Amino acid sequence: MKKVLTVCPYCGSGCQLYLCVEDNRVVGAEPANGPINEGELCLKGHYGWDFLNDTKILSKRLTKPMLRYTRSEPLREVEWDEALDYVAGKLKTIKEQYGPDAIMGTGSARGTGNETNYVMQRFMRAVIGTNNVDHCARVCHGPSVAGLTAIFGSGAMSNSIPEIEDADCLLIFGYNAADAHPLVAKRILRAKQKGAKIIVVDPRKTEAARISDLWLQLKNGSNMALVNSFANIILAKGWHNDYFINNFTEGFAEYCNTVKKYTPEYAQAITGIEPDLVEAAMKIYTHSKNSFILWGMGVTQFGQAVDVVKGLGSLCLLTGQIGKPSSGVGPVRGQNNVQGACDMGALPNIYPGYQAVTDAANRKKFAKAWGVETLPDKIGFTITEVPHAVAAGKLKAFYIIGEDPVQSDPDSGGLKKALNDLEFVIVQDIFMNKTALYADVILPATSWGEHGGVFSGADRRFQRFRKAVDAKGDVKDDWVIIGELAKRFGYELTYKNTEAIWNEMISLCPSYAGATYEKMERQGSVQWPCRTLEDPGTDYLFKGNIFQTTSKKGIFFATEWRAPAEVPDEQYPIVLCTVREVGHYSSRTMTGNCWGLSQLADEPGYVQISVEDAARLDIEDEQLMRVTSRRGSVISRARVSDRVKAGAVYMTYQWWIGACNELTIDNLDPISKTPEYKYCAVKLEAIADQEEAERQLIASYNDLKRKMGAEVS
Ligand code: SF4
Repeated sequence: MKKVLTVCPYCGSGCQLYLCVEDNRVVGAEPANGPINEGELCLKGHYGWDFLNDTKILSKRLTKPMLRYTRSEPLREVEWDEALDYVAGKLKTIKEQYGPDAIMGTGSARGTGNETNYVMQRFMRAVIGTNNVDHCARVCHGPSVAGLTAIFGSGAMSNSIPEIEDADCLLIFGYNAADAHPLVAKRILRAKQKGAKIIVVDPRKTEAARISDLWLQLKNGSNMALVNSFANIILAKGWHNDYFINNFTEGFAEYCNTVKKYTPEYAQAITGIEPDLVEAAMKIYTHSKNSFILWGMGVTQFGQAVDVVKGLGSLCLLTGQIGKPSSGVGPVRGQNNVQGACDMGALPNIYPGYQAVTDAANRKKFAKAWGVETLPDKIGFTITEVPHAVAAGKLKAFYIIGEDPVQSDPDSGGLKKALNDLEFVIVQDIFMNKTALYADVILPATSWGEHGGVFSGADRRFQRFRKAVDAKGDVKDDWVIIGELAKRFGYELTYKNTEAIWNEMISLCPSYAGATYEKMERQGSVQWPCRTLEDPGTDYLFKGNIFQTTSKKGIFFATEWRAPAEVPDEQYPIVLCTVREVGHYSSRTMTGNCWGLSQLADEPGYVQISVEDAARLDIEDEQLMRVTSRRGSVISRARVSDRVKAGAVYMTYQWWIGACNELTIDNLDPISKTPEYKYCAVKLEAIADQEEAERQLIASYNDLKRKMGAEVS
């Protein structure tokens, strides 16, 4: 048996593990001594590998290109040349007829790796001629990137994951580490054991709330008001850091002006939090030697998300809690390589290394390196704008790599309509999924485990992941497929291997210039910025309180609280908030095809509902129930819980039948265009005939599984 050292494909923690291989089959996984996991793994790390053996539990591996020339035909298997010739021909026609901006592409935050994201954004920009490239960071931590870039000049975690355990205070805001990043949760536990004070802001009693010193159970949708009241009490008590403010920041006077109205008493009407609790929380935050703010999608998935990120960052500026070990900001990125897809410029406004497409010098540099006369200067569409751009007749083709937006994006009814209305849809993936059912062409790619490259962990950590087995079908590496398409446009985009791609990329990105494959092998990982071959990388940012803004100062920001877009009313009286699930990942095509993980929970998933609401509606634990919004209606199973308050329910987005994104709203943050997954209005109904509902559930599930090629008994 051989053991191959690699990086887990399931969350931004970036745990290292060994894949155990016999006769070209993966037979197990063992923890490695990586810098984040130190010899431990969570459930997904331990049991999330047998999808590689094409178990067909949920869907089948894509093993041959498929296409249909008209939508009335079924997809049929074809040879690569036929598929790639057809894709290139259609994209050329659409580009000629409507212009390059009628074509949209995605990178992928999942197992494909940084090199594919680099090649994909180069293809979209240099070959197609558009900045219409984006990926699912848009629907998770896009606001963290936008908000932190605005106030600090850098949009990532300021400190490393291992530093969490040495903080004296952790302010955990809208972040359920136990479900989202179990090995980060372990660091939180260790911090507690070492004496740190834990403050949790969350409407649910998460595991972190359970072990916290203070739990602020705020009303859903009131984040900005609470953050403003934090600033207000710090200023009122004189707990701010004048030296830091005077020497290293800008915009303090205007900031004070905005937050002065948000006394804890004033904010209480919006947040529901007792003023004493606000004061006690900020006393701990300001009086601790090193305070570290961690947040997740409870901050970023709102219509007012970028503002809240800036508000949290401003608390660091107000108190000087940044620029030192274990002190700063920690937007902990969700999917395993969502940090990397951003690092590689799979975003409509930046090239790799966070270099703006609107800057003429950047355009000139990349155009020269990529052998084209010019590059587009207009910021492209985001993925969340796709349904609107299709409805407006602006988008005609969509090339989707390693994403399943029908399952993961808000208001899936609207997205399905857009996919039907597009002239051409290409899906490049490893499994059949709901989005692939709408494709004109499917291009099968190799999976994590079948190729190597570099992932970026949430704490700016480049790590090598490696090939363990040969792929079995007629599949190709993502970056090879893109290169073969480019050739059909008369453009050379072929590379010898991923290291050649990586070396080209770092030669164009000053922040990554010293992060070679050799250094990653030698050190185990390299955290950017890493500017020279001698530079080992950077554990925490902003040493000396020098920020990366134009003025090198931190820029304060506060603004008024805005209510969510769709508040409960008589017809839809309950708030729906979507959350994470520990045993499954993303749209479940990988974890749902792993035997061990598939045993944890199955369709139609769960609705967490309060004891009070369940009793009022006569719904019992584990019963099927109906959830309906203005956009759709689904059934799911009740999980009656004393961890949630009456008036709100919580669903995870992994489920095909209990698909919460049939219900969610596509109200977007105006800056990051991130949807308000955390808040829309729904109604709940008990189902009288449970036996009939169970029968219908099994029939619909089996029907969907058959469509996806699973083996249904
Ligand atoms: S914490 Fe994340 S990276 Fe680590 S084993 Fe679990 S899923 Fe994988």
